[in-house]
Amino acid sequence: MSDFRQLLGQVMRSGRCLADEPMSRHTTFRVGGPADYYVEAESETELADVLALCRQQSVPSYIVGNGSNLLVGDKGYRGVIVVLGKHFSEVKREADGRLWAGAGVLLAVVAKAALKETLTGMEFASGIPGTVGGAVVMNAGAYGSELADVLGTVRILDPKKGVLELAATELALGYRTSNIPARGQVVLGARFCLKPGTESEIRNRMEELGAQRRNKQPLEYPSAGSTFKRPQGYFAGKLIEEAGLRGFTVGGAQVSEKHCGFVINRKEATAADIKKLCHEVQRRVREQFGVELEPEIKQLGEF
Ligand SMILES: Cc1cc2nc3c(=O)[nH]c(=O)nc-3n(C[C@H](O)[C@H](O)[C@H](O)COP(=O)(O)OP(=O)(O)OC[C@H]3O[C@@H](n4cnc5c(N)ncnc54)[C@H](O)[C@@H]3O)c2cc1C
Repeated sequence: MSDFRQLLGQVMRSGRCLADEPMSRHTTFRVGGPADYYVEAESETELADVLALCRQQSVPSYIVGNGSNLLVGDKGYRGVIVVLGKHFSEVKREADGRLWAGAGVLLAVVAKAALKETLTGMEFASGIPGTVGGAVVMNAGAYGSELADVLGTVRILDPKKGVLELAATELALGYRTSNIPARGQVVLGARFCLKPGTESEIRNRMEELGAQRRNKQPLEYPSAGSTFKRPQGYFAGKLIEEAGLRGFTVGGAQVSEKHCGFVINRKEATAADIKKLCHEVQRRVREQFGVELEPEIKQLGEF
């Protein structure tokens, strides 16, 4: 690894590169052991070079946005965690109601920029704590809308073809899924197609949805949002509640008492606590209702 460290230093010309960086600092669950390397790429070239180096040296790499949909194991990640740095944080208005945002921009910031430009369509996303990159990959959604509804084109780094501009329709966007991870691609930025709106209506909708989140979701505890996807014909939270698992606890992890669809880090949970709790929830729901709960959160690293 020490040769690799040197090589990494050579390709990281302007971005930060940290060794043994605790991933608990970079996930909303606030758990996760050290990543061998944690780099913040500060240009498309730097990003491409780091990823190419990892491939050449057979060192695993993983892109992280705001870490709001990730469970990283307690023993951490053997490889390079790659984050898009400040270079990827631009938001700008374009013609005809289009808004461009770099992949590192938080959705809340995009929604605020849309409000400022009196453009409607992003209100649903204002409370989702992810970056544009993570949200495109996950086709994040809430309150009956999803990214696919407002996404025009996406700037992508492809491992073989380099930088591409793809239409949203080419990304196989489905319920919390896209074809981006399977292709080893990285989202560099996205263009949102919004409509002219009324400032007060956009603001009111954002405030109304924000209040709904605060009332229904355990935002006072670290979590990764909805732990499981919605099974066809059911609601995960309702099944978990009906299985008698409200408040069910493993170590420091708990099925939220406020919203059974959320697993929370109640008190100094480990990633192993969260993983074990999720398995037990899946087992009991399967046993009682014959329904398989599929995790929405991504797992990474060694547990
Ligand atoms: C309190 C709370 C509420 C939430 N509410 C919602 C909700 O209402 N709706 C919803 O859909 N989700 C919700 N989530 C989950 C989460 O915020 C979304 O899934 C979000 O889109 C993840 O974005 P991120 O930047 O944090 O991605 P991360 O968690 O960092 O990564 C998620 C996935 O995207 C990949 N990725 C990230 N950036 C890039 C990139 N630039 N290029 C390629 N791959 C990338 C990662 O490799 C990983 O596979 C919530 C989470 C929390 C904590």
